[in-house]
Amino acid sequence: MRSTSEILRAKRDSTELSREEISGFVRGIVSGEVPDYQAAAFLMATVIRGLSTAEMVALTEAMRDSGEAWDLSDLAPVVDKHSTGGVGDKTTLVLAPLVAAAGARVGMMSGRGLGHTGGTLDKLAAIPGFRTDLDLPRVREALTKVGAALFAQTDAIAPADRTLYALRDVTGTVESLGLIVASILSKKLASGTTGIVFDVKTGNGAFLKTVDESRALGRALVDTSRAAGRQASGWITDMSRPLGRAVGNALEAEESIRVLRNEGPAAVRDLCLVLGVDMLRFAEPSLSEDEARRRLVKAFDSGQAAEKFGQLVEFQGGNRKAIDDVSLLPQPRRKVPATAPRSGVVQSIQTERMGILSIDIGCGRLKREDTIDFAAGFLVEKTVGDRVEKGEPLAIVCYGDRPAPRPDFEREVAELFSIGDQPVTPPVLAIEKL
Ligand code: URA
Repeated sequence: MRSTSEILRAKRDSTELSREEISGFVRGIVSGEVPDYQAAAFLMATVIRGLSTAEMVALTEAMRDSGEAWDLSDLAPVVDKHSTGGVGDKTTLVLAPLVAAAGARVGMMSGRGLGHTGGTLDKLAAIPGFRTDLDLPRVREALTKVGAALFAQTDAIAPADRTLYALRDVTGTVESLGLIVASILSKKLASGTTGIVFDVKTGNGAFLKTVDESRALGRALVDTSRAAGRQASGWITDMSRPLGRAVGNALEAEESIRVLRNEGPAAVRDLCLVLGVDMLRFAEPSLSEDEARRRLVKAFDSGQAAEKFGQLVEFQGGNRKAIDDVSLLPQPRRKVPATAPRSGVVQSIQTERMGILSIDIGCGRLKREDTIDFAAGFLVEKTVGDRVEKGEPLAIVCYGDRPAPRPDFEREVAELFSIGDQPVTPPVLAIEKL
């Protein structure tokens, strides 16, 4: 078997690694025998050279087995959704209470921000008091009493992913099909949920930009989950523009609450209905798609989904009053419009770059130990296909405690929007079911 530095040289030169080499390397990451700089070198070589299917499966299993596996089978079905990462993607905050209110048990293990995309844990942390560090007994209690639990990976679940995820976030090593599959599935398979819907983002704000790449990613996620005995489905969904209006942690928590109160943007509600139908049908396979959808719409319209979010927030230590009074969430200190330099129709939005600019004002991390400015973010006022007049806001830049990172920052934000004269049909949200 090769030594660590020989493994790195082999990966650099596209030589396939054996299952034993991969599992030894992953064990070394967890024990500390493989330091961060060697792990980061492995990640970079992997992004550039790729992983064979055998390497990807070996990495997934080694990362899953790096910690303990939870058993929730006595509470089954416990359904879950995982997104491959997007800008403004707050669907977890809506889906968990929505699907629970419609009658299923929902358990979702979520992550911090990754690369240019925001993390569900950071969005939840914007709700005063909300705790995601639940251990297994507490998750079980939440699933039993509330019907939903939103929790972070504990130290014991897929610890190799925790280390690699945090390194990938700050070393430009997220964009790899094999690494994304291993990261997502190592923790999903260890978390004990029995049915998983994958929301595979595609477009200029996703990690994998084309429908073909996203399809390959989605197939790998669905097929590997099914091979591991889980119910699994996947949707390829649009990420060529931010989802909804809010980008940034407290802004997205607020928008999620508004969607649950039937006041939020249609795109967020619509995507939650698409993904929620699959989740609900995993829990109740006898439901038709139409019946499942009707159940979810009723949960929205009756206020039960918002009420369920209140129960969930309270159970997890958060201030439930924030659901009726969103001013209790962290508030921006300053809001400055990014205005259109000309009149016309928004042709496209540089969504990945918007995610990167959001990190510059405090929405994410540039280094592993960085802190988040929860109030910071953008409110997207115009999206693809919208008409805009010169001088109208394209977006509102919301500053929290940090000042603008550069002079004329709002102009940088406005430049993310390409404005032309042609009418544009907005992209379809749910592009393809896998
Ligand atoms: N979500 C994850 O958990 N990992 C990835 O690599 C991408 C999205």
